[in-house]
Amino acid sequence: MIDQVIPEKITKLTAVKGMNDVLPPDSATVEWLESKVRVLMSRYAYRNIRTPIVERTPLFIRGLGEVTDIVEKEMYCFEDRLNGDSLTLRPEATASVVRAALEHNMLYDGGKRLYYMGPMFRHERPQKGRYRQFDQIGAEALGFSGAEVDAELILMVNALWKEIGLMDVRLELNSLGQPAERLQHRKALIGYLEKHHELLDEDARRRLYSNPLRILDTKNPHMQSLVEAAPKLMDFLGETSLAHFKTLTSILDANAVVYTINPRLVRGMDYYNLTVFEFTTNRLGSQGTVCAGGRYDYLFEQLGGKPAPAVGWALGVDRVLELVKSAGLKNIEPILDAYAIVTEVTAFPFVHKIIQGLREVGLSVQMHTSAGDGVGSMKSQFKRADNSGARFALIFGADEIANRQVTIKSLRDISIGQQTLSCDQMKEWVATLQSAD
Ligand code: ATP
Ligand code: MG
Repeated sequence: MIDQVIPEKITKLTAVKGMNDVLPPDSATVEWLESKVRVLMSRYAYRNIRTPIVERTPLFIRGLGEVTDIVEKEMYCFEDRLNGDSLTLRPEATASVVRAALEHNMLYDGGKRLYYMGPMFRHERPQKGRYRQFDQIGAEALGFSGAEVDAELILMVNALWKEIGLMDVRLELNSLGQPAERLQHRKALIGYLEKHHELLDEDARRRLYSNPLRILDTKNPHMQSLVEAAPKLMDFLGETSLAHFKTLTSILDANAVVYTINPRLVRGMDYYNLTVFEFTTNRLGSQGTVCAGGRYDYLFEQLGGKPAPAVGWALGVDRVLELVKSAGLKNIEPILDAYAIVTEVTAFPFVHKIIQGLREVGLSVQMHTSAGDGVGSMKSQFKRADNSGARFALIFGADEIANRQVTIKSLRDISIGQQTLSCDQMKEWVATLQSAD
């Protein structure tokens, strides 16, 4: 088996195209974003859900719809080698969350507010902001029908932008109404597009009868005026759908959330109804959507469950990170408190004991390491200490070891004098350091 996988001539092993390694310091920025999200989610009473990365293929075919981009051409499917089941690397997580909610009967005692973070896989053409493995953070409110929950989810995303310092993200809203309203609109839309058939590009012609709504979402500049003048779904909505939209916008207005209503905003998956929304930016070129979501009241049924209303969003972590980086928002590199310098290999037992104690009370400490020829000169160790970004050097020389002491030297502030402390005095030093932070 392995023989078949290894190519005859082993070339350089690299990551799969469109699947990226996230290295320090970028990985620290991801962790920073994730920690902000965790705090935010708990403030809004959303709880974490972790579903498998691999699901049965029919989940996505039934969940997202057969004629969606994702199902038509973007899924990574493979056969389970034992029983031939068709499995798929998840392209998104909403279908999985609903599957889990059904499988574990999670809505038996009322609605559930959930969030997830993790990798998704889509076989797209890789480009900046568009990858084959990318991370999403998503929130799903299951079992709630009121527009106040749609509003809550949008307010939460807005709060996240504020929390991480992104100011130039715009919110666009639309309502897709209910299936019957969409059907009326669909007829009018197909009629209109048929009349202008010569103006449709290849993609639009292909979608004309399968997914005409998606044509409105075209990025083709030659079709812009055509789609702008197309029948608007909003004009086909009945009273109840309009009232839902009105409740949502009045909550957003009351909270001074700025938005534009974009009647052409549709979403890639079939499962949406009523509210849909996107957060976009101009700073990422054509991959400008950083977060997208909406209501999906029919997905539970579509997946074979008892009907239950639901609404959610998913955010593209890679794109948000790019924004954070390009805005130069802050230095997110973790701060190292101290670097331990050691003059003798024999000192390691004592040094380890001391710095373990420091770590237990919350300091981050990096220890110098030995090579085949010992620990290296003081000069080279100081250079490493400096490069590590640590605030202090902890020097364990022969005298210090003999007297059970450590010498502390600031690496950032020369006005702070060097001091040699006993273990007890060290505790005081830590306390002073921590109260100053
Ligand atoms: P697009 O129109 O850009 O293809 P989409 O409608 O397919 O987006 P969703 O499925 O709604 O996107 O995913 C939510 C968010 O996840 C997107 O707004 C985007 O930020 C991010 N995202 C989607 N696909 C990718 C990808 N291939 N690479 C990186 N981020 C992605
Ligand atoms: Mg897409």
